Amino acid sequence: MALCYQYHQLPVLPLDRPVPKHVLSRRGAISFSSSSSLFGCANPRVLSQTFTISSNLWIPSSGWEERFLERRGAISYESSDQTALYIRMLGDVRVRSRAGFQPERRDSHPYIDFRLLHLPPETGELASARKIRRLRSFQRYFRSAHLFRGISSPNSLCILDDNYSGQAMCMLEKDRSWNFDIFLFDRLTNGNSLVTLTFHLFKYHGLVEHFHLDLVKLRQFLVMVQEDYRSNNPYHNAIHAADVTQAMNCYLKEAKLAEFVSPWDILVGLLAAATHDMDHPGVNQSFLIKTNHYLACLYKNTSVLENHHWKSAVCVLQESKLFSHLSVEESYQLGHQLGSLILATDITRQNEFLSQLRTHLDMSDLCLDNAGQRHFMLQIALKCADISNPCRPWKLSKQWSEKVCQEFFHQGDIERRHKLAISQLCDRRTETVANIQIGFITCVAKPLFVEWSRFCNTTLSRTMLGHLSLNNASWKGLLKEHTRSGDDADSITRK
Ligand SMILES: [Zn+2]
Repeated sequence: MALCYQYHQLPVLPLDRPVPKHVLSRRGAISFSSSSSLFGCANPRVLSQTFTISSNLWIPSSGWEERFLERRGAISYESSDQTALYIRMLGDVRVRSRAGFQPERRDSHPYIDFRLLHLPPETGELASARKIRRLRSFQRYFRSAHLFRGISSPNSLCILDDNYSGQAMCMLEKDRSWNFDIFLFDRLTNGNSLVTLTFHLFKYHGLVEHFHLDLVKLRQFLVMVQEDYRSNNPYHNAIHAADVTQAMNCYLKEAKLAEFVSPWDILVGLLAAATHDMDHPGVNQSFLIKTNHYLACLYKNTSVLENHHWKSAVCVLQESKLFSHLSVEESYQLGHQLGSLILATDITRQNEFLSQLRTHLDMSDLCLDNAGQRHFMLQIALKCADISNPCRPWKLSKQWSEKVCQEFFHQGDIERRHKLAISQLCDRRTETVANIQIGFITCVAKPLFVEWSRFCNTTLSRTMLGHLSLNNASWKGLLKEHTRSGDDADSITRK
């Protein structure tokens, strides 16, 4: 059964905003028009045939003829339309100097090359290297799966992996521990924390049986999701997604929610957590807007990243055919609810959700028998999971804080180099990790977790508030120490 929800919601890229040529060379499949003049090619069919095609996708939709969409480095298009419809993938972000480079788009400012940060645009070779990496990842999984079932490998070279898998398995037994060290788990799983954890949780919650999921397709889907996170991002990478998924699982098990959530809610909640930052470019929305990036244009400067994460997730869902046996209505609901959860993670919508939650708690009118209200609480749970770093024990929380600031400061460095206004919190000359964290805890995290604790009123929610306040005190202590010693700002992060 085909999925059809995607095209009801696709935004349109105006005709005066052609997709840059180099983007066409990336694997991310661009749905665009047959107006080939935009792309300097006589016929987009010809263009599409020049790229590696690794899979095909069958998508029907109202108003659209059923057709094959060529994916992964291919291009999908609608013959009667003349606009780019959807860009699945975004190259890593890099700003280059003017000399020697073409502008990313004719009205880009400054001249920006959004190609890979550390790699040239994906060529056939790179695309196949990626495929090989994915295949290896897949093989690693099956070997681990054997070990998990106690089937020893005849290959003595796997002894080290044996130990690591054993330890990873032990950690999975404590998958609801709030002290879960996702960094360690990622090392123990050979960088497969997102795949291993999410696969385990699907099985643990009985989702595989309930939704008649094909284990191989599930595994392939999760590998694709994990691979679409950029490992060169200090913070917004697959480990963050795994961390958010682990936190989401803890929240789904909170008594108030657990009593009411259905397998469907768990499915959507875990899927949203695992995919909520897919293909994050490592810069924020303000950067994409000020550099006139095509994604900002495509999504009209509104929840640009979140929309992109959602669409990326939908594309991978379709490509994996994991839910191809669901009805059209169920498929629509899956895509729609996934989007609603991912879009809720837009931090600029924090007050909107917070005041709604406060009102519900003040009125005591939350009725979780109601699917709509349950969905609202899933949105809140995902928001909490996404910003739960300051609620973790100091050892973990501090690592996350340093990583997110590293990403902010990297963006600030690019902005400074290109004489752009430096985004808030991104200037390493005026900001410190401690300052940023104190501000974040005070203004964003604490207000949300106070209400979350009012809702849950459990040991876990109180523990999280406890860590939040201890971590805040630690950052304040470091800040005071730093002010006294007059050290340079960076020294705070090293303590
Ligand atoms: Zn996130």
